[in-house]
Amino acid sequence: CGIVGYIGPQSVVPVIIEGLRRLEYRGYDSAGIAVGGSPDQQGRLELRRAPGKLKNLEAVIEKSPIHGTFGIGHTRWATHGRPTEENAHPHRDGTGTLVVVHNGIVENYVVLKNALIAKGHKFMSETDTEIIAHVIQDELELAGNIVHTPDRTLDVNSAEAVLADSAATPATPAISLEEAVRRAVKRLTGAFAIGVLSAHEPDKLVAARMGPPAVIGIGEGEFFLASDVPGILHHTRNIHFLQDGEVAVLTTAGVAITDFNGQMLPLKIQRIAWDP
Ligand code: GLU
Repeated sequence: CGIVGYIGPQSVVPVIIEGLRRLEYRGYDSAGIAVGGSPDQQGRLELRRAPGKLKNLEAVIEKSPIHGTFGIGHTRWATHGRPTEENAHPHRDGTGTLVVVHNGIVENYVVLKNALIAKGHKFMSETDTEIIAHVIQDELELAGNIVHTPDRTLDVNSAEAVLADSAATPATPAISLEEAVRRAVKRLTGAFAIGVLSAHEPDKLVAARMGPPAVIGIGEGEFFLASDVPGILHHTRNIHFLQDGEVAVLTTAGVAITDFNGQMLPLKIQRIAWDP
């Protein structure tokens, strides 16, 4: 329901939590966050999730603090699966190194899920969203980025989640994370606005849209993703409204937009004059 992503010099967790709070008016039943890039995380992404209000997530983070240079957060309005911690976003792929937040509904998730189970994938939630993470993993495996190993049994206690597996990754990846996302979203039917992070490609945030709104905020040396303008407007008024069929790649160097085939598209920055 609510998505906020951030890459830049500010403390990532407060930027995301505050952004999600400003999107609270949309309603939600659980919340979660994943961050990466902190030296003490040694290349891992760290995940924290909690059912209920944002203050529950904040309590989890207070007990088990996380820091990072890039991250994504989500407030969930459940459509597939109860509002539990296991079903809260972000969802992980089977290697535990890639996370996805998602607004919308993947209509063909049962077909995709069954095909992936036949390939050895293990699923930990009841959501349609988790399938997106596994389809991206499947594309990375098909391209040779990651060697197919049977999916791990990941710790459902998110506060303990460890997301690193450099052993499974060749030194030179065959395709980029954004290319894997582009290939994956072409296999989805339904509606989605997604944010994706990988422990293998730190300081990068990939977003894609087909249906639910998503906006990109252009700051000075910092970049934002949100499901709606009020989540980031207090940081920047320079907004690119992601269009259906667009993929955005946010790095510390800037933002690049392509279509689902990788064709470059212009960044169309609009200056937002109104206040929420
Ligand atoms: N369909 C997804 C779920 O149930 C996303 C819900 C949302 O838009 O928040 O987890």
